[in-house]
Amino acid sequence: MFEKVLIANRGEVALRIHRACREMGIKTVAVHSEADANAMHVRLADEAVCIGPARPGDSYLNKSAIISAATITGVDAIHPGYGFLSEDADFAEMVEEHGIAFIGPKSEQIRMMGDKLKAREFAKECGLPVIEGSDVLNNVDEARTKANEIGYPVIIKAKAGGGGKGMKIAYNDQEIGTAYMMAKAEAKASFPSDDVYMEKYLQNPRHIEVQILADSYGNVVHLGERDCSIQRQNQKIIEETPSPALNEAQRKEICELARSAAAKIGYISAGTMEFLFEDGKFYFLEMNTRLQVEHPITEAVSGVDIVREQLRIADGAKLGYSQEDIKLHGCAIECRINAEDPETFVPNAGKVTEWHAPGGLGVRVDSEIYSGYKIPPFYDSMIAKLIVHGRTRNGVLMRMNRALEEFVIDGIKTTIPLHQKIMAQPEYIDGIYDIHWLENNIRNFK
Ligand code: ADP
Repeated sequence: MFEKVLIANRGEVALRIHRACREMGIKTVAVHSEADANAMHVRLADEAVCIGPARPGDSYLNKSAIISAATITGVDAIHPGYGFLSEDADFAEMVEEHGIAFIGPKSEQIRMMGDKLKAREFAKECGLPVIEGSDVLNNVDEARTKANEIGYPVIIKAKAGGGGKGMKIAYNDQEIGTAYMMAKAEAKASFPSDDVYMEKYLQNPRHIEVQILADSYGNVVHLGERDCSIQRQNQKIIEETPSPALNEAQRKEICELARSAAAKIGYISAGTMEFLFEDGKFYFLEMNTRLQVEHPITEAVSGVDIVREQLRIADGAKLGYSQEDIKLHGCAIECRINAEDPETFVPNAGKVTEWHAPGGLGVRVDSEIYSGYKIPPFYDSMIAKLIVHGRTRNGVLMRMNRALEEFVIDGIKTTIPLHQKIMAQPEYIDGIYDIHWLENNIRNFK
């Protein structure tokens, strides 16, 4: 097994990876920006290297600084976490070229899936259903013609997009010009390519995704699905497994489709296939070639430590179980808690004067926060994940309410009150919601 792993990330995910390494007897190297010198992931790691100033571009996205840190500390492998460089194929290639193991899939697989159009092609070849859509759109006229062919509403998306950015909806010919220009401008500002394409915009879908684990010997399993339909501005807020929207036959269908597609491309490591689900039909959205924020709900119901499996697979180990051995138990829900005003969603970084995380049976909190910690304003506003597990969905809802009530975070504003309101909505309690439900109803929450 690896002796030492560099964790190329910060926050709760850096901690998550550190914990898996520790339990496997692996030493860890933290990298950090100047703003993160006091962060928990730095305090816990065996070694720490400062890789640059606060701005992510100067530190957590600084590939050569991270490779240098890896070389100096003599690590065997690098875990990229999620976000930052986790889906940067060039980075994965650089790591491989330096004789260091990249904990994730091969760089070619990251490259293919990072191009949403290529990913669509691959999906079609593997027999996965895709949403009706276009190729790269070269100008507004082309976009208008295509939109009329497909039928409004349509969504313009960045080919190299991610994180819910670079997507614009158009409902008619008047809106298509602006949607095209805005999506292109956003893509240019945020991604390596400003190419955009179009998809039919589904009006009431749910977001359903399937967790895959695959080793280097062709063994591929799925660990069930997650429903991530509680979203705001295309970003997930609450996730749950199993999805309350699927019956057993639909669950089996989508999980098996995703598993066989991953096997067909010879996928290696943990990955997630994302789908939209509307009127009983699934449509492939994209594949994420990395660990996902919401992976703990799958860990809760499957008992599989996904990060441990990523480390084992990267080291050449076999999965050690087949699909029949995977048994999923009960239900799990995750609330993403952000340092934001719960009404305006304006980020609210600052000093956490008091911190008390909930505990008890079936409650897990993944967070880098401690009392007295000063949250730097330069990064994502998610500060904690509250994951609750239990035998029944009703029991889990009761437990989530209890855990949210117990959570104390003073000194900053958080989205805990929003989660409490969502948990009290009859539609949420009944599991009847699509990806627009939160945004359409949030104003009426009491
Ligand atoms: P990203 O890579 O930026 O996360 P995705 O393609 O995964 O982008 O889409 C993110 C979210 O955007 C989805 O979960 C869904 O809410 C919405 N979305 C994307 N494509 C469509 C579509 N064709 N119709 C309706 N909603 C969509």
